[in-house]
Amino acid sequence: MKLANLDGRAVLITPDDLAVDVHQASDGRFGPEPAPLFSEWGAFRDWAQAAPLTEAAAYDPAALGPPSPDPRQILGIGLNYTEHAMESGFEAPKGLPPVFPKFLSSLSGPVTKVVLPEGGNTDWEVELVAVIGSTTYNIDEADAWEHVAGITAGQDLSERVTQLAGPAPQFGLGKSFSGFSPTGPFLVTTDEVPDPDDLALHCELDGETLQDGRTSNLIVSVPRLIAELSKIITLYPGDLLFTGTPAGVGLGRDPQKYIAAGQTLVSTVEGVGELRQHFVAADGK
Ligand code: ZN
Repeated sequence: MKLANLDGRAVLITPDDLAVDVHQASDGRFGPEPAPLFSEWGAFRDWAQAAPLTEAAAYDPAALGPPSPDPRQILGIGLNYTEHAMESGFEAPKGLPPVFPKFLSSLSGPVTKVVLPEGGNTDWEVELVAVIGSTTYNIDEADAWEHVAGITAGQDLSERVTQLAGPAPQFGLGKSFSGFSPTGPFLVTTDEVPDPDDLALHCELDGETLQDGRTSNLIVSVPRLIAELSKIITLYPGDLLFTGTPAGVGLGRDPQKYIAAGQTLVSTVEGVGELRQHFVAADGK
């Protein structure tokens, strides 16, 4: 099942890439907004898998919002691919990798214009994002995928000057400028992909490939991340987990490379789709 947020309304996406309004198709049982679906995800998923996909209509991808638009928590995971940890100047973590918040005001849909922070070095990090589907506390790794509503694509945009200033890194702030957490275009349930633990990630800037990775190379897999996190915190329905980025970020290049005004970043997760961010300067140019 593919779920999207079209102008604030929950829609199912058909195999022909058309949109079916959830509220209308369910005779008012679910929707119209996407956020409440996560608190009754099991019932919604069961309905959606047999839902009549009639009255499907074309849609504009630029009108899509974040599939989970109102998460209580957005968690980011740092240094979760060995080559990315090395290019960042760190050893690969032995236990749980660094965990940081991406604040809610940075969340956006898949096709956006992003203002580059002045005096900053804005970098790219394509990531698989897991959307939590039930209240998750103290669970086992073997059960973790059952607590995931679905997966989506994410860009963990990162302003490195803010992130690395000060006596300790400011991961949360450096990664939470407005529009720095694009997600989408769809939430895809894991039965739609051959292997949710082995998905290709790709990112390119104005057509130049920057990152090419696979989630099978995650140091700590998605189910183990969820299980380990759940030993400490409670994850809530609709929460977003950015799972880490593969090698190829601008910070790790020689010379370093960052996003300039006028450039377009396209980020892809296999089986999910693409994000497209166009960057402008603070004066709008
Ligand atoms: Zn990241």
